[in-house]
Parts: sequence; structure tokens; C-alpha cells
Amino acid sequence: MERQNAVVRQRIRVTGVVQGVGFRPTVYQLATGRNLNGFVGNDSAGVFIELEGAPAAIDDLVAILEAAPPPLAHIDAIQRTDLPVTGEPGFSIASSRQQVGATTFVSPDLAVCADCLRELQDPADRRYRYPFINCTNCGPRFTITMETPYDRPLTTMAPFVMCERCRAEYDDPTNRRFHAQPNACPECGPRIWLERDAKQLRVADAIAETRRLIAAGEIVAIKGIGGFHLACDARNSAAVALLRERKHRTAKPFAMMAADLTTAAASAQIGPAAAALLESPPRPIVLVDKDPESDLAAEIAPGNGQIGIMLPYAPLHHVLLESGDVWVMTSANHAAEPIVKDNEAARLVLAELADALLLHDRAIYVHCDDSVIRMTTEGELPVRRSRGYAPFPVRLPVAVPPMLAVGGELKATFCLADGKEAFMSQHIGDMENLETLDAFTAAVTHMEHLFRIQPELIVADLHPRYLSTRWAEDNFADRVVHVQHHHAHIASVMAENQYTSPVIGFSFDGTGYGTDGTIWGGEVLLGDLDGLARIGHLGAALLVGGDAAVRRPYRMALAHLYATGVGWDRRIPAVAHPTDEERRIVRHQLETGLNAIETTSMGRLFDAVASIAGVRHEISYEGQAAIELEALGTPEADGTYEFDLIEEDGQLVLDPGPVVAAVAGDVTTGTPVGAISARFHRAVASAIVTTAIMLGSRYDVHTAALSGGVFQNVTLLDAARRGLEENGFEVLVHRLVPPNDGGLALGQVALAGRR
Ligand code: ZN
Ligand code: ZN
Ligand code: FE
Repeated sequence: MERQNAVVRQRIRVTGVVQGVGFRPTVYQLATGRNLNGFVGNDSAGVFIELEGAPAAIDDLVAILEAAPPPLAHIDAIQRTDLPVTGEPGFSIASSRQQVGATTFVSPDLAVCADCLRELQDPADRRYRYPFINCTNCGPRFTITMETPYDRPLTTMAPFVMCERCRAEYDDPTNRRFHAQPNACPECGPRIWLERDAKQLRVADAIAETRRLIAAGEIVAIKGIGGFHLACDARNSAAVALLRERKHRTAKPFAMMAADLTTAAASAQIGPAAAALLESPPRPIVLVDKDPESDLAAEIAPGNGQIGIMLPYAPLHHVLLESGDVWVMTSANHAAEPIVKDNEAARLVLAELADALLLHDRAIYVHCDDSVIRMTTEGELPVRRSRGYAPFPVRLPVAVPPMLAVGGELKATFCLADGKEAFMSQHIGDMENLETLDAFTAAVTHMEHLFRIQPELIVADLHPRYLSTRWAEDNFADRVVHVQHHHAHIASVMAENQYTSPVIGFSFDGTGYGTDGTIWGGEVLLGDLDGLARIGHLGAALLVGGDAAVRRPYRMALAHLYATGVGWDRRIPAVAHPTDEERRIVRHQLETGLNAIETTSMGRLFDAVASIAGVRHEISYEGQAAIELEALGTPEADGTYEFDLIEEDGQLVLDPGPVVAAVAGDVTTGTPVGAISARFHRAVASAIVTTAIMLGSRYDVHTAALSGGVFQNVTLLDAARRGLEENGFEVLVHRLVPPNDGGLALGQVALAGRR
């Protein structure tokens, strides 16, 4: 009672995503509104606050921070310590400090907020149509931050000196731009310009000129937040075809940007969940069903039932696209190289790809591609977790020592972890060339700095020839531990679901190096984060000619037909496709095992079935055959196929023989491909359910985990999940990181961190 009028002083430490999200102004306003003295500041561990005043007022302030933090903040913990009273008057914002050995979070890049958008569109506002408008609630973060704490001199905004009016906003704790590090205006901030024919064109209005070029069917490279896009009119077939020709990209779908939700909805079937995701602050590319009536160029996503669409996120996009516009906005890069992010590189690399460059002078410190998310009946399925999400951490169910997991090869990401925080990197690309390896090295260094994590342990895939594995071994020799690919997939889905009890894991993907030196990819695993064991797998077939068998699904088809003893009947499209000569060579390889390796890959079985059914015999991007097979499926068609489940050497083998024979039978009797696809998907889902029931009762495990690139197939994922749930299983699926190799590093951390 007697303490009611007493004055106390407390230190309050807030950790989590608390920098660059308007935290300090919020604290300032709460403190001054409650007659509390003291200060608030950022350091490399988060936000520090000292408050002096009535205890009830301090309690009240903390309660409000907990209940209603600034919209973009994610508070991890609030710690309070008593301090001696100092009697110092007033409340201030302290300058930022460095703190040794502490980890702070860095906010992902965020789409322009509603308040800024209103100003952007207001002719009376001084930032009317200014492409770099931002505030503490929005704007670039991760891609401009060189070091923590997040402060202007440590971002790529450092060279821009704020004008008086911007400075006043920046210094005013009641202003929306108080300590908004990228704060800028047309007078003092970054600028855009257009370059054409290697000359800087002094175009009075670079925006209008860009729009004119796009309307005229040209291709413009546009510098954005995490790198350059190549843009063209998505309704202009000739322009899209030209872009394909220049990029040497025959079929892989192009992402698009629609001016607004209404415009997007005119071309695609967008349900409420997809709409909310499209408009969310990360603004990912969302994969949605194409509207059959849509007037988009067919060249956007040939053979694909879905299209990838996103909404404007940088203010620049808002001033570029007008309602009704749909532009192709694909990552600007050369073939398999990382996205281009610097003006110099753009002039060199993009000159052959684009007719003009729309540049700006705010440097992008690290590249960050757009994120991609597919909708399932149950929610979101990440296909690529990058801009807008990275580097926000994924919470681990178990604490790990400071470590770095380097991921796999395709769709590479890495993971830096310490304690229970796993910082998954942005998408790096396919680690098949030196450019990507360089980008990987740069991104690792950057994140090690940002989060002040010095890895004691390095985790790599078991595959001796992955560039990521070699990079780890070259740089860290004795500190490298290896984790098997399919084990990592299952651990990844367990980790993001905070699950530590035993599961039956279905790890289905294209390719991974098995512990027996063969190529795995249809694996059934049992265990938990202390260790997983293989207890079953898809029946093996021969992969003939290595990579050639991956690029040419008909080779996989021939191998599966051969393994099943189905004759190579010319009425089967996969048999008719190759030349007599090639068929002879493949037969010889299958008979002798020459230049052939065993694989249990489920992804390759999808390839084989796609080719047998006549859907796709040769691919130009990963997963193409399976994607097209799924797209053609007609769920209303009845019937199914059935795998044989055989016990063999203590393993349950899912023998695809009867399925392959039935597909071949259906195709020769003229069954529509839509029905073949539907039956095949049903067969794989039901093999999963039957296997889970058999092994689940044997090992008394009633949780199933689904991971691996094959589970990007929503038809399969939904059917398998439904079947498992109907049979009493709890089902772990991905929601935070991709089931493909983009999520692998998380599983590597979760498994190796426990050893
Ligand atoms: Zn804003
Ligand atoms: Zn200014
Ligand atoms: Fe994989």
C-alpha cells in the first residue's frame, strides 16, 4: 500500500522483430502519456527501455506492449529488472548501441502500407508518386541492411542525406516516420531513370516512358526491392514469346504482377484465402487456377493449370501499373544464375534480355527473390520462402548450438541457427554454377553478421558432389556433419510443426543421395529428431544415362516398363517417342546395368507415368512432367490403380509394377489422360495411407509426416492428408518452409543439432 505513490525504475528488454517496425515511437508515446521518465533504444539484442515512475504506470505500459505491439513487430520476450531510481527527468530516445554476443531479428522487406499508399496517390502530398515512399510500418529492410543494429548509416540509405523536412519527421517521436531508416522524399532520396541502347536517356518521365515501352510490346528490366524483374505485357503473346526466346526459357511459367486485386481476379480464380495472401505485407507470388476465359498470353504458363500472380509491393510498382494492367514480372537473371541486383551487373547481363533498364540509385545489399506460395484446401503451401518472409526465424522445437546448415543443390537456401531460432535464408537459386555459389557465400557472410552467429557446427547433405557439400567441406573440413537428404526433409516438416515425437515420414522427391549410394526419392522413414531410419521405399527402377534420364522422362518410362515386364508396345507414347537407335541403347543399358543407377525416386515415377500417358517426354524445368500430369487430372473420373506392398529384407517395398502396367494398359485402350492422371494420384495417396496404417500399427506410431518436392503436388497432398486423417492419423505438412529442397536446411539443423 505504502508503495502506491512510490517511484521505481526498471530496465525492460524486448527481443524479437522489434527494430524497424515503429517500436521506439510507440514506447515513447506510451511513456510520455503516463508521466514516465527514462529512455528507449535499439541495440543488437533488440530494444532496451528504462522507465522511472509509478509502478502501476510501468505495468500498464508493458501490458499494452504485450497485448497490442506495433503491427509489424513480433515480440519474442520481455524481461524486466529493477534498477536504482536516478531522478533524471524527461523521456528520450537513446542512440543505438552494439551489444556483443546478442542476436537480434531483422525485419523482412514489407509492402508499402495503406498510409503511405494514400500519400503516394495524393497530388497535394509532397511524396505524390514518389517511388521510394516508406515509413516505420513499411518499406525495405532486410535487403538494405548491411549490419545490425538497424540504423540508417548501416543501411544502403547511408549516402542519402535527409532534407530538413525528412529530418524533422525522422526526429519527431510522434511522427509515423520517426526513425524510419529509409525515410526519403523527392528532394533528398533515391531517384529512378531509364536507360536505353547503353545510353542514359534523359526521359522527363521515366514511368510514362516505361509504360509506353511495355504497351508497345518491349521488355523492360525494372529494379525493385530484392533485385531486377524483367517486365512485359502479360496479354501480349509476341512480347511473352520474345522474353522466352531471349531467356532461353521454353516452358517454365512466368510470374505476373496485376495492378490490383480486381485486375488479378479477372484472370484467375482467386478465393478469399488467396486474396488475403495476395494483399498481405509479404506480397508473395500466389499460385492460383487460371481463369479459362482469361485473356493472358498462353505463353505465360504453357501446360500449367495454374498461374503465379502477385500484387504491387514497392511504391515503384504502384506508380508503374495502372488498374487493368497485368505484367510479366520474372526474376531478371541469366539462365541459372542468381537474380541481378546491381546497376552495373544489369547493364552487363540484362542488355541482351531487356530493351531498356529502369534503374534507381538505392543499392540492394543482398538479393532476395519473390516468394511463391500455393494454396491447398487447408491453407498455404510455400514453394519458395524468400522476400517478405526471410530472414524472420522459424522456431525450433529443440535448442541447438550455433550452427550453419548449407541445404542441398536445387532451390538452395541455408539456415543459421542458435538456440531455438532458425534463420532460414532467402532463396539462393540452383547451386550448379560459380555465380550462385558466390551469391551463397555472400548471403552466408551477411546473415552471420546480422545475427552474430559464429557456427560451431556445419551441416551438409550426404551427396559428395553437391556444390553446397563441397563448399562446407572446403571451408570447414573437420566441423562438417552430414545428414541424409530424405531424413532432412522429414525433420524439416517436424521442426516447423514443433513436433518431437516419433513419426512415419513419407519423403518423396526427385533425387537425393541414399546411404547405400543409390538415388533415393520414395522413402518411408520412422523415428524422431534423435534419428530416423528407413523402413520402406518405392520399388527401384534404373536411371539410365544419369541426368539424361531426368531431362527425358521417356527414359524413366522405358525403365519402369522394363522393370515391370511390360513389352515396349509402340502404341505406348513413351515407347513411340525415342528413335529406334535410342531405344536400343536404353535396352542395352537396362540389360547390362551399364551407365545405370538404381533409384527409388517417386518424382521419377511421376515422370515415367507422365510419359507413358503421353503428357510429356522431355522437360525443360524441374518437375515439369509431374506438374503437367497433375494439371490434366479430371477428379470426376473414377477408378484407381494399386501398388503392391511387399515385405523385403525388413523393408516395406511399394512396388509400382501394377500401376505402371495399368497405366500402359489404359493408354493403349484409349482411356483419357485426365482419368489416368486422377487414378495415378489416387493410387499414390492410397499407397501412403495403406503403408501408414500397416507400419503405424506395427510401431505404434499415429503421426504421419509428408515432405519432399513431390508434396508440392496439391492433388496428392490433399488426398493423402484426407486419407490419413480419416484413418486417425495426425498429419504434419509444410506451412512455413517449402517441402522441396528450399526447406532442407531446416531439417539439417533440427537433426544435426540434436547429435
Ligand atoms: Zn508506410
Ligand atoms: Zn527529404
Ligand atoms: Fe529433395
